[in-house]
Amino acid sequence: MIVIGRHINGVVLNPMEYVLDKNNDLKSFESELKAKQYLLDRGMNPTMVYDVCKYIRAFQTNCNNCGRVIVYVEEYIKKDKDGDYIVCPSCESFMINT
Ligand SMILES: [Zn+2]
Repeated sequence: MIVIGRHINGVVLNPMEYVLDKNNDLKSFESELKAKQYLLDRGMNPTMVYDVCKYIRAFQTNCNNCGRVIVYVEEYIKKDKDGDYIVCPSCESFMINT
C-alpha cells in the first residue's frame, strides 16, 4: 500500500507531511498510480504530482488492544531501549513492531 508525502514546502531539509483521510489517519492507496490520480483529480498541479510528491510504501496492522486499523510509514515507528514500537492513535497502547 502507498501513502502520499512531501517535504514541507518542497524543501528537502524539512520533515515530511502526508495526505490524511477524514479521520486524520494516513490515507492509503493501492498503488502509486492511484495515488497520483487522486491528486490530479483534485486539481493539483501535475508538476507537483510528479516531481514534489513522494509515494511511500506504508504498512497496515491492527491494534492488539482495540482492533483499530493503523496505517503507518517507517518513520512513525518509535525506537527505545526495548525495541521498536508504534502507538495506536485511538487507545494509545503500544505495540512492539515485529
Ligand atoms: Zn488501539
